[in-house]
Amino acid sequence: MQNITVLGATGSIGQSTLDVIARHPDQYQVHALTCHQQVESLIQQAIIHQPKFLVITDPAYYVQAQQLAKQAKLSAEVLSGAESLQYVAEHPHVDCVMAAIVGAAGLLPTLSAVKAGKKVLLANKESLVMSGSLFIQEVQRSGAILLPIDSEHNAIFQCLPATYQYGKPQQSGIDKILLTGSGGPFLTTPVAELASKSPQQACAHPNWDMGRKISVDSATMMNKGLEFIEVCWLFGVSPQQVDVVIHPQSVIHSMVQYNDGSVLAQLGNPDMRTPIAHAMGYPERIESGVAKLDFSNMQNFSFSQPDYQRFPNLKLAIEAASQGQYASTALNAANEVAVAAFLRGQLNFTGIAKLNNEVLQRVTSQSLRSIDEVIAYDQQVRRQAQQCLQEVA
Ligand code: NAD
Ligand code: MG
Repeated sequence: MQNITVLGATGSIGQSTLDVIARHPDQYQVHALTCHQQVESLIQQAIIHQPKFLVITDPAYYVQAQQLAKQAKLSAEVLSGAESLQYVAEHPHVDCVMAAIVGAAGLLPTLSAVKAGKKVLLANKESLVMSGSLFIQEVQRSGAILLPIDSEHNAIFQCLPATYQYGKPQQSGIDKILLTGSGGPFLTTPVAELASKSPQQACAHPNWDMGRKISVDSATMMNKGLEFIEVCWLFGVSPQQVDVVIHPQSVIHSMVQYNDGSVLAQLGNPDMRTPIAHAMGYPERIESGVAKLDFSNMQNFSFSQPDYQRFPNLKLAIEAASQGQYASTALNAANEVAVAAFLRGQLNFTGIAKLNNEVLQRVTSQSLRSIDEVIAYDQQVRRQAQQCLQEVA
């Protein structure tokens, strides 16, 4: 029996995780569930999964959560505040932590799970993008098992040899990692029309049903940019060893190309329960509830190169991956400010990449030697991005 903490339980990944857990009551038990504000859905989840702890990070919702938990006769202890996330992530009774908080808010609790040597299922790509080598050093020091949930990275993980050594792709005969992306809802929209796209249109992804921030990132392809940086850190490969390939059908989730000409791909329906079940069960395979691919009824696969004119954010991220940690951290911070402003109606769609570019032009190279420095830098860049927002909007 494995005890699991689900950070960000009420989100899209959190809900899919609980769906997989519910299919295996003999193997997994929920230790803690967390959310920022959606207390009603958290309580509904708690009624089903009966965790030991509930964490509500926004203190404004704490009293309501306590009342609802009492009404539902839950035995769970209800905690509030960001520090409580770390408590339930590193708790000695926990075997496995699903890191599914969105954005920079996921960094500290994910790192707590890593430092405590847990099996960490990483959906929160922003934490790795922000802290890169510091994060990986902690994984290596603590002996935590880090398993990727992002469908592309999970696919790559599955296509690598079991003997793969971190940072040594050549030793495994690897030529390239081929990171696939659908291109999102605006792949064929005339570029001149992009500026007027609404949050609702940007969030209507053709293949995946996801939270709003990652949906907007998919529409600008910043998501693929963050994933590009994520690949480099997860597997210890250089930016030159990664190519982005547009594959609108989202059936191939990524590929690894070897020196002998072989290309290994992982395929499946676009449903996050597949990578979640893969990582939860690893190294075993467990049922996920995902419909099997039907090859008798398969649409054609197509592939193309990304167009940086249409997706300037992708280019910014690929460049940031070579520039150093400060550039990736800055880009992630600027992008979180830009996407939040777009979702509030304060910035138009093409303004997101403009703001990101403007912020990156203004930051200068510096070394980030500790997580405290990463967090301070993230905060500093957010303030700069807020200033730029007045100019760009
Ligand atoms: P979501 O918006 O649906 O859910 C986010 C969760 O984080 C919610 O439970 C919310 O309460 C919590 N949260 C939000 N702000 C918080 C804060 N300040 N402090 C603490 N908790 C907070 O997001 P999602 O789509 O589930 O994505 C979660 C993460 O997984 C993101 O990093 C995303 O990039 C990654 N991811 C998602 C998908 C997907 O299909 N949804 C795929 C790959 C990777
Ligand atoms: Mg992905």
